[in-house]
Amino acid sequence: METFMTSLDMAGEVDPPSPGEEPGRRILDLVLEPKGRIALELDKGQTLRITDLDGQQVADLICFARDDLSEKLSPNVSVMLKGNIYVSTGDLLYSVDARPLLRIGRDTVGRHDLLAGSCCRGLNRLRYGPAAESQANCRDNLAAAMAPYGVPLREIPYPFNVFMNVPVAADGDIAVAEPLSKSGDFVDLIAERDVVIAISNCPQERNACNGFAATRLGLTVFSAE
Ligand SMILES: [Zn+2]
Repeated sequence: METFMTSLDMAGEVDPPSPGEEPGRRILDLVLEPKGRIALELDKGQTLRITDLDGQQVADLICFARDDLSEKLSPNVSVMLKGNIYVSTGDLLYSVDARPLLRIGRDTVGRHDLLAGSCCRGLNRLRYGPAAESQANCRDNLAAAMAPYGVPLREIPYPFNVFMNVPVAADGDIAVAEPLSKSGDFVDLIAERDVVIAISNCPQERNACNGFAATRLGLTVFSAE
C-alpha cells in the first residue's frame, strides 16, 4: 500500500511479549516511521497492537466501518457512553451511530485522549505562525492515508489519540502534557466489526504532545483467536 512509510526490517527491536501472551497469530508487523501514516484493514476479531517504540509518541487514530465508510468512530459518542473522558482496557469505542467499532484490550499506559483532535494546518498557523502552516500535521496525514478509500480531507473525523496525555482540571482547563508512555508500552485494539483504520504518527514537535520529538511506532496485527 503506497501510504506506508515504514521500514519492515526495524520491526522487532522491542522485546515482544512471549507468544503465549499474544492475542493471536502475528499477521502483520511493521514500524511506522516518525511523522508517517498508514491505512490498514482489520477483520472482526483481529487485534491491532500499537507500540510506542521510543517513548512519548502519540498515534492519531481514525476508524471506519468497512461496509459503510460514512460510519466512523466518534470520540463524542464514546465519551458519552463511557461517562468519562478517559478510556482503557475493556472500554468500547463507538461509531457515530453508537455501534462498537473497537474494544480496548491490554493497555500498559492507561492514558489516552478523546478530546484534543488532530494537529492541522489551521491550528499550526494560529499557534506557531504562518511558517508553521505547511509543516507536517496529522490531519493532512490522515487524509493522505484515506485517499485510496475516497475519503476527502473534509470528511476526516476527530481521532482517538493513542498515548496522548490531556489532563483536565476541575475547572475544565485542559493542557497538552507529555505522554506517560515509555519505550515498549502498548495498547491492543480489537475490531468489533470489519473496519478500516488510519493512523498518523503525530509529527508535532512544537509542544509537549510527543515530548517535543517525533519518533517511531510499532504496529502489529494479530489474527482472531
Ligand atoms: Zn498530530
